[in-house]
Amino acid sequence: MNKRILIIEDEEKIARVLSLELNHEGYQAESAFTGKTGLERAEGEEWDLILLDVMLPELNGIEVLRRYRKKNSSTPVILLTARDAVPDKVNGLDHGANDYVTKPFEIEELLARIRACFRIHTGKSQSDDKEDFLMVHDLRLELGTRDIIRQGKRIELTSREFDLLVYLMQNKNQVLSRDQILSHVWGYDFVGDTNVVDVYIRYLRKKIDYPYNLQLIHTYRGVGYSLKEPV
Ligand code: CA
Repeated sequence: MNKRILIIEDEEKIARVLSLELNHEGYQAESAFTGKTGLERAEGEEWDLILLDVMLPELNGIEVLRRYRKKNSSTPVILLTARDAVPDKVNGLDHGANDYVTKPFEIEELLARIRACFRIHTGKSQSDDKEDFLMVHDLRLELGTRDIIRQGKRIELTSREFDLLVYLMQNKNQVLSRDQILSHVWGYDFVGDTNVVDVYIRYLRKKIDYPYNLQLIHTYRGVGYSLKEPV
């Protein structure tokens, strides 16, 4: 079965070119031209991935994403953002986008990010059969249901925070460099600031560490981070 990709983009020319390129790559691409119809189609059908333009009439892309994520937290979403729209990117990631591509983009770059999204997600579902949870001390992560529980309390994470936590837990007690984390969690040769790792580690700490008396994530100055089983 070909993977189904929904393109939500009001510029019909861009949507048409994207759809041609994606079909050519063997995906089954379909388009919606407003935020409203995009959200309806996103929610009404099964998709393997959604490409979502941020600047949309009626309902902008961030709003579409916010509403979509209330019901669906697993289908990857890649945002198409304007070049210097840093708030859009941060906002989008906070609302559960898996990645973003800055317009104008090279189709090759977009294809690489799409493949990276699929790699990460396939990796997850394969692990369902082998072991369905990860555990470090009193922190438990269910790979199937994506539930995270510490000391009996359920913790809500965005999809990127979840991916980061999975990677840290799979490599517990090892020190991971920012570059390692970037390439595994962001899934491609990330061009730009490795600060994004520090930012996400901070988000994660706020949720899984700060409310508890024992901290599991450790900083190795100038090196990276480690999620450690207490000795
Ligand atoms: Ca647009």
